[in-house]
Amino acid sequence: MTINHFVGGKSWTGSSIRTGDVFDPATGTVAESVLLASAADVGQAVEIAAAAAKSWKDASLAKRSAVLFAFRQIMHERRAELAAVVTAQHGKVLSDAAGEVQRGLEVVEYACGIPTLIRSGFSENVSTGVDSYAIRQPLGVVAVISPFNFPAMVPLWFVPIAIAAGNAVVLKPSEKDPGAAVLMAEWFAEAGLPEGVFNVVHGDKEAVDALLDHPAIKAVSFVGSTPIARYVYQRGTANGKRVQALGGAKNHMVVLPDADLDLAADAAVNAGFGSAGERCMAISVVVAVDPIGDALVGRIAERMAGIKTGDGRRGCDMGPLVTGAHRDKVASYVAAGVEAGATAMVDGRDPVVDGEPGGFWLGPTLFDHVTPDMSIYTDEIFGPVLSVVRVPGYDDALELVNSSQYGNGTAIFTNDGGAARRFQHEVEVGMVGVNVPIPVPMAYYSFGGWKASLFGDTHAHGLEGVHFFTRGKVITSRWLDPSHGGINLGFPTQS
Ligand code: NAD
Repeated sequence: MTINHFVGGKSWTGSSIRTGDVFDPATGTVAESVLLASAADVGQAVEIAAAAAKSWKDASLAKRSAVLFAFRQIMHERRAELAAVVTAQHGKVLSDAAGEVQRGLEVVEYACGIPTLIRSGFSENVSTGVDSYAIRQPLGVVAVISPFNFPAMVPLWFVPIAIAAGNAVVLKPSEKDPGAAVLMAEWFAEAGLPEGVFNVVHGDKEAVDALLDHPAIKAVSFVGSTPIARYVYQRGTANGKRVQALGGAKNHMVVLPDADLDLAADAAVNAGFGSAGERCMAISVVVAVDPIGDALVGRIAERMAGIKTGDGRRGCDMGPLVTGAHRDKVASYVAAGVEAGATAMVDGRDPVVDGEPGGFWLGPTLFDHVTPDMSIYTDEIFGPVLSVVRVPGYDDALELVNSSQYGNGTAIFTNDGGAARRFQHEVEVGMVGVNVPIPVPMAYYSFGGWKASLFGDTHAHGLEGVHFFTRGKVITSRWLDPSHGGINLGFPTQS
């Protein structure tokens, strides 16, 4: 079966006949194919979106939030269907896919509140008889370009807010697992969203470049790896667009000597190997502050023995990696770690799995005595590989975290409130957990990292998201009264 684009309220093929393979990662077979748009296809979709944006921006707030409420209801009732599509194409286990859908749903619920979120201030009598007020208006057509690892949640970080704010959207999901985007587009149509307000165009670099160059695209929300995020930011902003480009990560979990080591070991395992490490908020480095290294590593290794790797539809803990090429790349990092002299406490390269032999399997790997010059430390691996770095004290741990080129998420495990407070103040990272390993902000806060984890200055969802998809206008108004002041060429001041 071929997965089509969704444009103008319906399934759409465009004119390009290029396609990409969509795998079932748990069997290793090509399950479907997906159309890959040409620049001309993208141009057509953007024009359809631009026409729809003209009337959607004038739809009342009541109408816009009603559509969001209806979408929320459909999504709530059919969430299992969406999770199943995610598992089939991404490979993450069903319970994890359900969690991703839930976190996406929370952004939809946040966007339902658009009448309140978009409300601005009014000042009466800024000068005698003169009032001033601020309004926020939609931008027009915006593009969302998303990665493979959260095919439902990441588009939902942006799409509901962009639509609720009165924009039309062209979403270019990852070509590796495009099914979730199409299902959500069908649900938006069912929810009563006018045709052309939400469009899904599949593709690769050609489609992305066409979006970045199209003059009718006013803003781009991108999530993916750092090199592509940097490129998207540079090309998009050079073309005069507003761009938020979220990039890669290497998240550290600092464990202080006074921490509850069982809690820390549970957290390291869950955050290191959930979704097979294919999360931008996964913990990939545990920083063990002396003298707890041996005790912590022992507890982590012990827990890893209980992780069941296999088909995400069979009740396993950890699924396959997304493609064979990615699995091989991650496995090559494990080889590089061994080569570089790190201690492989658990080597995941020959896993026992509950699944078809052709699946893209790799078991969890734990390295101890990792040093900052090793590639397993410096590079984002994006797989089930956890590195432990041992440091003598808190200051060394902080310096390690702050020296990273990335600044997406981090966590500290301690029972010392003062140490935790100092860490949250001093660490150069956008999202910080205190005894919480994956501190993904709720929908009403904003998600985003620092440094090479985000290009641009606006984070996703929360009020920053509402601001990203709207622009401000301030009106100063006076209604004539009989006592107007006559001619005055001076700069306006209050009186
Ligand atoms: P990716 O960068 O390969 O792809 C992301 C998007 O860019 C996809 O839609 C893809 O089609 C497109 N793309 C790929 N190559 C391109 C090119 N040369 N030119 C233009 N567009 C291109 O990322 P991925 O492998 O799909 O996702 C994993 C990455 O995403 C990891 O680095 C992860 O850390 C990151 N990520 C970050 C966050 C965050 O919030 N910071 C969240 C999720 C994922």
